[in-house]
Amino acid sequence: MSAAASLAAGVLAKYEPVIGLEVHAQLLTATKIFCGCANKFGSEPNTNICAVCLGLPGALPVLNAKAVEFATLASLALHCTVNERSIFARKNYFYPDLPKGYQISQYDRPLAEHGWIEVPAAEGSGKRIGITRLHMEEDAGKSLHEGFSDSATRTYLDLNRCGTPLIEIVSEPDMRTPGEAFEYLTRLREILLYCGVSDCNMEEGSLRCDANVSVRPRGQEKFGTKAEVKNVNSFRFIRAALEYEIERQAEILESGGRVLQETRLWNADEGRTYSMRSKEQAHDYRYFPEPDLQPLIVSPQFLSETRKKLPELPEARRARMIAEYDLAAQDAQTLTASRAFADRFEAAAGRARTPRRVANLLLNEVVGRLKALGLELEQSPVSMAGIVLAADLLDEGKISSKQMKQLFDAAFEKSEDFATVYEREKPEQITDAAALEKLIDEAIAANPKQVEQYRSGKKTMAGFFVGQVMRATKGQANPALLNELVTKKLEG
Ligand code: ADP
Ligand code: ZN
Ligand code: MG
Repeated sequence: MSAAASLAAGVLAKYEPVIGLEVHAQLLTATKIFCGCANKFGSEPNTNICAVCLGLPGALPVLNAKAVEFATLASLALHCTVNERSIFARKNYFYPDLPKGYQISQYDRPLAEHGWIEVPAAEGSGKRIGITRLHMEEDAGKSLHEGFSDSATRTYLDLNRCGTPLIEIVSEPDMRTPGEAFEYLTRLREILLYCGVSDCNMEEGSLRCDANVSVRPRGQEKFGTKAEVKNVNSFRFIRAALEYEIERQAEILESGGRVLQETRLWNADEGRTYSMRSKEQAHDYRYFPEPDLQPLIVSPQFLSETRKKLPELPEARRARMIAEYDLAAQDAQTLTASRAFADRFEAAAGRARTPRRVANLLLNEVVGRLKALGLELEQSPVSMAGIVLAADLLDEGKISSKQMKQLFDAAFEKSEDFATVYEREKPEQITDAAALEKLIDEAIAANPKQVEQYRSGKKTMAGFFVGQVMRATKGQANPALLNELVTKKLEG
């Protein structure tokens, strides 16, 4: 079977994929979930550990209030019902990176249930993907299989991650294409980032996704047997891993076989999944209520306090910004990709004559140049005030768009702000009406067909003549004056 870069059309016509995602997100608390150890990535191995997170005999866990707040905030942002009473349970299993021999998690009484995320569907409509549950749990340590001189024969352990607070968000099997799963994960990440509860860094493992997938003949109601694909640790792979797995399962069914319920591992280098183990069952874990922790009570008062801390969420913010600044949907999407980016835009846009212009300049003139230089917006030589200035100058017709582009080029080249470059270069403008009229006459004489179109009602043709004269003046014509004169000539 080929690495499935795209699904064979025949297979998709016949079988419908069913996808449910289980996502783990590490919470950005200062300390771990049940002890005071630092919760941070990248420390020297085995330095952020204590008796509690190692599960030494007699050590007692104490629940981190900030972790509860973050988990509750995420639950509310995902439209979940938060249970007033939830229970921590021990999930027992043996693995070298889990010295306790059990993970404290939530089982039959999770923190929150019955939420949803809306993902874009065909033709601008939305589709709700259900969230079954959101629960709190602790992370395990890490096995280091590579990077040591004796890695061929030994595995090392770094237990710093033991006890890192996690939320696990389990979706309903509501997704029907790899694209929907990608959208779901994108929205989920965005929401968690907006709430500030996780940095959602997939490369560092603070956001992890297990993808459950099955296929069924189209028209059949009953779900097929699913496989759980683990190790999909990058956004780039979610689609590829699902496409591979869908095709694999469809081919098994096509050839009269049966899909096995199992856990499979995604191998990014080979672009395929491998069987890891047959699927474990809940009873394998011998769940029982954690005797060292009280039930977690989320009081109505705590809930309403937490609700007040909810930020404006990405979807709502996009809708508001589209209405408030007259933005295109795609631009609003880009501007709200991160909360900080949207904040910076909004702070500046409010000061400009036409906020939409600030959006255009930011997206069309600044973002691309920054990307080419490998810079973030905070590192931009052109400040937001500089972008506002450029937008206003354009608005007032004091510079042409060609001159604007040249000024941005110069600013990025010399690493100066827009205002500095503008003050120094004060690009020349042709404001001599007679000179412009002469050029307009020439353009009109040379393009009778376009004149005809304009006069038969196609008023946008005026832009064509403005463009002709701009070209002839190397972008130096005063745009406001030029526009006015072009209209006058064409109407005359
Ligand atoms: P398990 O008992 O194997 O843990 P769950 O019912 O708890 O299964 O579901 C785990 C995840 O698998 C959820 O995200 C759910 O949406 C998804 N899922 C369940 N059944 C299927 C299926 N037949 N096909 C695809 N995904 C499924
Ligand atoms: Zn500890
Ligand atoms: Mg389950």
